[in-house]
Amino acid sequence: MYQEAIKKYVEQHGHQRLNLKAVLFDMDGVLFNSMPYHAEAWNKTMSRFGFNLSKEEAYLHEGRTGAGTINIISQRERGHDATEEEIQQIYKAKSEEFNSYPEAERMPGAWEVLQKIKAAGLTTMVVTGSGQGSLLDRLSHNFPGIFQKELMVTAFDVKFGKPNPEPYLMALQKGGLKPEEAIVIENAPLGVQAGVAAGIFTVAVNTGPLPDHVLLDEGANLLFSSMPHFNEQWEMLYEALKQG
Ligand code: CA
Repeated sequence: MYQEAIKKYVEQHGHQRLNLKAVLFDMDGVLFNSMPYHAEAWNKTMSRFGFNLSKEEAYLHEGRTGAGTINIISQRERGHDATEEEIQQIYKAKSEEFNSYPEAERMPGAWEVLQKIKAAGLTTMVVTGSGQGSLLDRLSHNFPGIFQKELMVTAFDVKFGKPNPEPYLMALQKGGLKPEEAIVIENAPLGVQAGVAAGIFTVAVNTGPLPDHVLLDEGANLLFSSMPHFNEQWEMLYEALKQG
């Protein structure tokens, strides 16, 4: 079944074959189990400012910039964008709320599959909208020897962010890769949208509460139900990918 998805991708994009060299990982909700905390922080903070943003809806906005999310809710509930000052206030409060929670743990299965990918000689990259200063430390502490600073795309690198393809296009550029030489691993609808728009084979891993179709509707080439499931299936998927 993996061959079929790969064949479909190759034909759609007019490539000769998929020639896998690198795996591009999203971070929140893929490498770290941080999304429940983000959803909680969004929900609490927005209601403190008089807005309704359910935890489930927070998952739909995952990957969007803070300002983008706040404006969508403000438009819906008040019919206009939030002011610059409101955006700063709300986003600061949300970040403070998030930072008061325990540090997110590694997603189960993530370390295992990363080691296999590394052992296969493939390049591993992180492509995230996060701009936390401690990001690199956290990655090297939790996933020692897996990621290099030069092969990361963060909030500091990009102008638009997901769902714009920019972060993934930048990852291809940094890695010296063509779209058909990489795959994207994403958990959020907007992240899948970004990977697909960059022309890269995009694997959705549904680690949150949204129904599968939300990720498939964005054009995900494959879907796994969890990171442990992705890890279990990696050998079979890799075999199919090698055949291109
Ligand atoms: Ca994510």
